[in-house]
Amino acid sequence: MGGARAPIERMATPQPITSPQKIAVRNPRTGKSDYEFTPPTDAELAAQCQELRAAQPAWWASGLEARCAVMCRFADALETNREALVAALAADTGRVAIATGELVSVCRNIRRWCERAPGIVATEEFPSKMMPTLRVGHQLVPYTLVGAISPWNFPLALSLIDAIPALIAGCAVIIKPSEVTPRCAEPLRKAIRSVPELAKVFDVVPGGRDTGAQLVPKVDVICFTGSVATGRKVAVAAAEHFVPAFLELGGKDPAIVLASADLDRASDGILRSSCLASGQACLAIERVYVHESVHDRLVDLLVEKSKRFRLVYPDINSGEIGPIIFEKQADIIDEHLDEAVKKGAVIRCGGKSLNLGGGRYVPATVVTDVDHTMKLMTEETFGPVTPVMKFRTADEAIELANDTIFGLSGAVFAGTLEEASAVAERINAGGMSLNDAGLTRETYEAEKNSFGFSGTGGSRHGDAGLLRFFRKKAMLGQTGAPAKLG
Ligand code: NAD
Repeated sequence: MGGARAPIERMATPQPITSPQKIAVRNPRTGKSDYEFTPPTDAELAAQCQELRAAQPAWWASGLEARCAVMCRFADALETNREALVAALAADTGRVAIATGELVSVCRNIRRWCERAPGIVATEEFPSKMMPTLRVGHQLVPYTLVGAISPWNFPLALSLIDAIPALIAGCAVIIKPSEVTPRCAEPLRKAIRSVPELAKVFDVVPGGRDTGAQLVPKVDVICFTGSVATGRKVAVAAAEHFVPAFLELGGKDPAIVLASADLDRASDGILRSSCLASGQACLAIERVYVHESVHDRLVDLLVEKSKRFRLVYPDINSGEIGPIIFEKQADIIDEHLDEAVKKGAVIRCGGKSLNLGGGRYVPATVVTDVDHTMKLMTEETFGPVTPVMKFRTADEAIELANDTIFGLSGAVFAGTLEEASAVAERINAGGMSLNDAGLTRETYEAEKNSFGFSGTGGSRHGDAGLLRFFRKKAMLGQTGAPAKLG
C-alpha cells in the first residue's frame, strides 16, 4: 500500500526550495497587499507528505462507514468555522454571497458523497463466462496520497472538490490552494484539525507555483485545476514520475441559440453563466452564436438585462459583479476587448475594467460584430463579457462552436429539447446544457470528460468522481484444478 516513490532517472523535479521567500497577497478590493505567508521548504513538504502516507493505511482500514462519519463531522466543523471561512474567502475574492455559497455547496457535497458512496463502491463476485471454474471478483484499492492543486476563482470549493471523494475512498490528501487566494487555508486547517482522525490524513499546504511543482512527484495521483499552460507542465512532471494526472483546465464555452429558442429564457441562461462570478468560471459562456433571424432581438435582451447587473462596490454585500480577483486577468480582459474593437467589434454595453478604490471591476459587457480572428472569440477571457456572432445554418453554428482548442462544456437553446439535443450531440465538449447554461455546475450527477485541451483523466462528476481514486484489483478464484501442465 503505497510507500515513497522510488526515484527515477531523468527526473523533471525542480530545484528543491531550501529558503522559501514570503509571498505577498493582493486584496482584490483595494489593490493593496495586506496578507502574506511563507511556503514550506521542500524538506518540510516531504515530511508532511510522509506523515500523511504513514497514516493512510489505518484510515483505509477503518472502513467506509467510519470514514463517512468522520467526513460528516468535518462538514459540521466547516459550518462551525463559517464566519472565519467566509471572511477569509471574502477577503480573497472580494465577494460575500459567492463565498457563503461555496461553503454551503462544499458541506452539501460532503454529505451527498457520504450518502452515495456505499452504493458506488459495492463490488460483486460473479462466475466467469470464459472459464466456468473461475470466480471473478475485484478489490478497490485507494491511492495512498492524493495531491490537489487549485486555482483562485473558487478557492474553497475547488480545493475540496476532489479531496472529498478521495478521502471517502480511503486516500490521504494534501491540497495546495492558489497563492492568489490563500487566506482560506488557515480557517480550513482549523476545521480539519478539530476532527482528529481526519487531521492525520488531510492537510493544506500554502504555497505558490514552486510548491505546486514540488508536490507533484511526492503524491500518487495529482488532481490539478487551473490553466492549460500550467496543466501542461503538471502533466509533463507527473508523467516523469508515473503519477496519474487528473487535469481540469480552461474553457471557452459556446452557447448556440437557434431561431426557435425562447429568447427571454436564452438571454437569462446565457447571462447567468457568462456573468457568474464576474465571468471568472471555467464553464462561463464565453461566446454566443445566434441565428441571424433572431440576432438583433437577442442582443437587445442581453444588453437590457446586462445593464441591470450592479457592481459589488462600494458595498461588498450588494451587487452581482465583484472585482476581478487576479489583477493580470483584468489586463487580459482589457486586451481582448481592445483587440476586438480594433478589428471591428462593437461594444453594446459595459466595456473595459474600471479602477474603483484600487480594485479592478469589469461591468457586464455585450459585444457584437465579432469573429474568430479575435482573441475574444478564441482565448479564455475570464470576465463578464458576452460576445455575440450571427450564423445562418445550424451546420455553420456547430462548426464555429467546434473551432476551438477547448472542450469543457457548452449550451444550446432551441424550441424543444430534441432540437437542442440534435445540435448538442455534434459539439465537442464534455458537458452540454440544453435550454439553459452552466448546468454542470448545478449538479454533479452526470459524468463528463473534458474534450480537447480542457483536461484529461476520468470524470470528476458522477460515480466516476469517486471510483477514479481507486485502483481496481482483479481477484480471480479457481474453484477447479489449474490447467494441466504440458
Ligand atoms: P494557474 O494554472 O495559473 O494556477 C493553478 C494552480 O497551479 C495554482 O495553485 C498555482 O500555484 C499552481 N501552479 C502554478 N505553476 C505550477 C507548476 N509548475 N506546477 C504545479 N502547480 C503549479 O490557474 P489560475 O489562474 O489559478 O486559474 C484559472 C484557470 O483555471 C482558468 O484557466 C480556468 O478555466 C481554470 N479552471 C478550470 C476549472 C475546471 O474544472 N475545468 C475550474 C476552475 C478553473
